[in-house]
Amino acid sequence: MLRKRLTREEVAMVSIWPKDIRCVVMLTFDVDGVSGLINRFPQAPEHPSLMSLGEFGPRVGAPRILDLLDKYDIKTTFFIPGYVAEQYPGLVQEAVRRGHEVGHHGYMHEPPGTISPQEEADILDRGIRILEGLTGERPRGYRSPAWELSAHTLDYLSELGFTYDASLVGDDAPYFVKGKHGRLVELPGQWFLDDHPYYVCLPVMGRMGRLPGVEEVYQNWIAEFEGVYRFGRAMMLAMHPRQSGRLAKIVMLERLIDHIRSFPGVKFMRCIDVAELWQQQYG
Ligand SMILES: [Zn+2]
Repeated sequence: MLRKRLTREEVAMVSIWPKDIRCVVMLTFDVDGVSGLINRFPQAPEHPSLMSLGEFGPRVGAPRILDLLDKYDIKTTFFIPGYVAEQYPGLVQEAVRRGHEVGHHGYMHEPPGTISPQEEADILDRGIRILEGLTGERPRGYRSPAWELSAHTLDYLSELGFTYDASLVGDDAPYFVKGKHGRLVELPGQWFLDDHPYYVCLPVMGRMGRLPGVEEVYQNWIAEFEGVYRFGRAMMLAMHPRQSGRLAKIVMLERLIDHIRSFPGVKFMRCIDVAELWQQQYG
């Protein structure tokens, strides 16, 4: 059972956050739609069932998630590939209208490590143009499709003026990373806190998942939160509306939010706000 009271030693621990914050939670959503399916499996459009699985995310899951976040007045970050933004411009604009941040997530969900440096540069430009065209603002954050940067990504991101990257897994609190043209804040995650490895089952693509019950995922994430709270770190959840927008999962997510927000000093934040806070504190 998670203790809501900290020991004297834990309270006395030097905090990495400003005074009123014990730890930070980022509930992020990657709205991949059909982009990653098509990128990995070019025959995907010939498989309507597979496509419907992808389409569920932006069409059904994301609006449901936006309503849940409104209910608790939580602002967060949606990472959206350019192709999905073009297909669902209203969703991108609605997310921004409700106070959320929209970050870059490739065009057709291309993991940078799988393409040439020139392709990567072109895709970064294309995604920026699409998101800026819809929101009026250049995206300031990037999450790599499949959590896999190339050797050039940080150089490109620093050249293009990004404030942060959210693709690495090297800590459980923000840290600085260097690109050729400057420094970025890294907001790390980890596969344990991504819904993808738990929930994905794509038989036509040869992926048969074990599909653990939501209770198992809830317990894993609560266990991580216990550590984040105790050590005063940052929790980066990465979810996908096509998975976490499903009914059992969104009910579980609400239970998780309810539990986390019952602890004093926990702050739910957008990635860009965490990155800026980190720059102010340590930049
Ligand atoms: Zn993705």
